[in-house]
Amino acid sequence: MPSGFWNGRQSDFNPLFVFTTRKIRMTNGRGRAFLFLAVVAGLTYAFWPADRRAAQKMQRPPLLQLAPVQSVGSGRLSSIRVNLTPSPVTSLPIQIDGAYRIQPVGNPRVLAEAAKLAATSVTVTKTGFQIGRNHYPVTRLEIHPQQSPAIWINGHQYRGTVRIYRRPGSKLMAVNVLPLEEYVASVVDSEMPAAFPPEARKAQAIVARTYAIYQMGQASRDALFEVYADTRSQKYLGFQYRGAGDRLLAGESASSRKIVDETRGMVCTYAGRLFCTYYSAVCGGHTLQGTELFSDAVPAVAAVPCDFCREAKYYRWDVSLTAAEMEKKVNPAVKGRTGSWGRLVALDNIPPAAPGRLLEFDAKYQQGHGTIRGDRLRTALSSHGVRSPHFRIEHQGKYSLHGRGHGHGVGLCQWGARGQAKIGRGVQQILQYYYPGSEIVIVGNSVARN
Ligand SMILES: [Zn+2]
Repeated sequence: MPSGFWNGRQSDFNPLFVFTTRKIRMTNGRGRAFLFLAVVAGLTYAFWPADRRAAQKMQRPPLLQLAPVQSVGSGRLSSIRVNLTPSPVTSLPIQIDGAYRIQPVGNPRVLAEAAKLAATSVTVTKTGFQIGRNHYPVTRLEIHPQQSPAIWINGHQYRGTVRIYRRPGSKLMAVNVLPLEEYVASVVDSEMPAAFPPEARKAQAIVARTYAIYQMGQASRDALFEVYADTRSQKYLGFQYRGAGDRLLAGESASSRKIVDETRGMVCTYAGRLFCTYYSAVCGGHTLQGTELFSDAVPAVAAVPCDFCREAKYYRWDVSLTAAEMEKKVNPAVKGRTGSWGRLVALDNIPPAAPGRLLEFDAKYQQGHGTIRGDRLRTALSSHGVRSPHFRIEHQGKYSLHGRGHGHGVGLCQWGARGQAKIGRGVQQILQYYYPGSEIVIVGNSVARN
């Protein structure tokens, strides 16, 4: 789930991704049919009794209201670049099922072609890369398989191509380049269980797509990738992967591909612009105002009450630490602390100004005190099972933490989306609940099919 790490410098919003909703042309047959239906619908609405309309409104979940979309017969599907190696590595396991060719990135020259590549590894040499028995004297290369998916990197098989870049210290970085909608299909299954209701999974697809396109617009011109494949951006497992005991597990499914088809090109906007659709697993009762954690959060990333996630395992949790454990973890994170303050004697909750505000704690020492933010304390204590920045601390010899939620708690609550879908709410209602004032529209470039 997005946690606000940037992979490139923030730049002005890339006009390439300022979308326009497509309008139906009224000159073709489909357009005339649409116009006819619109007139019939309008007349029906006008003459339908208002009280019955109101009653219908109560009974049915609202339909998704979108600007009309023209089906597109040509055009290029946008691609996204996903960093598969969050920290550069010295060696990377690789395998290619089927024919492929290797080219320098952005160069049509073919360096090699082969029918397949048995399991081997990529390493960096003084002048290039070693892949199995072959040496390539370039600093960046791209593997183009004849069919997709084919390339295995580190136990995950990916759709599209894979680029390998040299990084300082004889290290390398792998970047998967694939069509945006294929990426979204994997993110849906990577981020949300298949057992969650379809309307929740549609909401997941739309926020994942919006997040991805937003990051594509934010990446600097010379950035080599737009998103990470893990929770620094959003989880992306690829087409399939080998799990524990070498078991083959799916990274996408017929179900997630269907969800993507049903929401193709749909994104969230606020005041006519795409925004960063932060989301997290379980808010635990109330989401956090986006600006409390992320400087680029728009007003739609608002704090809202949410009890819909109460069936989640981590809706509530408890953790306890000894005084020594707490002191060791807390000391480096307390603002302004010096060694002369002595031992930690208490850690008190500072009452929040309002629900949806980030909690702060007062760390009291023998000779001084300092504040510590809930998110920093969560990071410091994550190895002890602290799962969110929202908790109450009790101190009686040992420290007891009574927490709520899993993740940062900003934006859409994934378990809350499940709860809302289970009581019959539709994707639009779910998204507008977590992002008040937002709209769903279709992004122009993304609806194009090859
Ligand atoms: Zn929730």
